[in-house]
Amino acid sequence: MIMGKLFGTDGVRGIVNKDMTPELALRLGRAIGTFFGPGKKLLVGRDIRVGGEMIKAAVISGLLSTGVHVYDAGLAPTPAIQYVVKKRGFDGGVIITASHNPPEYNGIKVIWHDGIELPRDKEKEVEEIYFEGRFNSVSWREVPREVKIFPYVNDIYVDAVVKHVDAELIRKRGFTIVIDPANSVGALTSSRIAQKLGVKVITINGDLNPLFPGRKPEPTPENLESTAKAVASMGVDFGLAHDGDADRAIVIDDKGRVQWGDRTAILLARYLLEKHPDFPRKVYTAVSSSTLIENVLRPYGVEVVWLKVGAIDIAREMQRRGDALCGFEENGGFMYPPHQLVRDGGMTLALLLEMLAKDKRRISELYDELPQWHLIKTKIHMDRQTALKVVERVKEHFKNYRLITIDGVKVIADDFWLLVRPSGTEPLLRIMLEAKNKELAEELLETVKSLIGEVLGKQ
Ligand code: MG
Repeated sequence: MIMGKLFGTDGVRGIVNKDMTPELALRLGRAIGTFFGPGKKLLVGRDIRVGGEMIKAAVISGLLSTGVHVYDAGLAPTPAIQYVVKKRGFDGGVIITASHNPPEYNGIKVIWHDGIELPRDKEKEVEEIYFEGRFNSVSWREVPREVKIFPYVNDIYVDAVVKHVDAELIRKRGFTIVIDPANSVGALTSSRIAQKLGVKVITINGDLNPLFPGRKPEPTPENLESTAKAVASMGVDFGLAHDGDADRAIVIDDKGRVQWGDRTAILLARYLLEKHPDFPRKVYTAVSSSTLIENVLRPYGVEVVWLKVGAIDIAREMQRRGDALCGFEENGGFMYPPHQLVRDGGMTLALLLEMLAKDKRRISELYDELPQWHLIKTKIHMDRQTALKVVERVKEHFKNYRLITIDGVKVIADDFWLLVRPSGTEPLLRIMLEAKNKELAEELLETVKSLIGEVLGKQ
């Protein structure tokens, strides 16, 4: 955590009892309560992480001291809490989660009344109250007398997700799938969603355990290796893996291949064109996603709106413009606006099932139809100033190509794309590139490396 700055790209995060202490949580609870104001109703919930109860209790204590009314949602996925905040008239919410971070981390994020994380300017207000210690302490008479239990969050959420799809159609197909909720709160909802749709579910890492004994919480191909092997050997229709708070969903196809989120998003976006023929044909995503989505969906008249990296910014932009078919992040966060504008792993699961029920092919066949490009992701340690200079040099070198410069520089060509951007949180330059073949991808990486060499040589 940087002094004077509390919120990262997605909430406040830190190692439990090191940076993420009860003192911090209490102060932040007081700041959040001061921001919302006395008499406001906030829903507070958490994922399975270590320190969850400790941090939640401290946040709640802080909130109560400002006269805010607290409703305790218990354990629930982030999208379930977000959905209920929006649908049940809460003024906001607080979620104790560190999403996909390693097990020693926990975090606090604040939800606005619309179910989306606080807008950036409001986040800044909370931060200012926190650092200035400008807390509102209500008089003794106004301290709320109790924390109300709100135990229906997961039920409301599961029912809402299921209503968006054709349950009968899915049921008829008799699917069997594997769900891997990473020993966290996805276990409370995703199997139920699938079972309500007549799907037979085999769960891996399905017991709630804050030590994440099954695998690390981030659903990457490396972390999903043993789940993928199991999926391949069991002959199921597909596997689905969540992160620690189940807003992300990564597919393992019936051949046991982990499919990265932007490939799944291409399939889902194309399916939504069929499901909602009257919807605007606009898909929102960050510059870190593959441009293959443009290549595949252009024939259908789809326009891709490129935004800077960060799920909250995608959700807010979809809300501002009000014309999104869907939105996504390449890491498995998919947003379906008729349900809610935020990433939602359970909703992604229901849509995948409906898509497969209509299509009748194996899910691996759908992925195999997509162009197979070669992806390289890497990062190089350097300070932000140098990273920005590299971005300028890359811009200059590729100036005759189509460039997107909202977050670093993205170069788009017919047979490749590349993205060079400074990390928002660490002293790193992130490089992502994807090309028609391995040779071209490696050649591009060499080009970028030599441009970096030029910049470093001048310093
Ligand atoms: Mg997450």
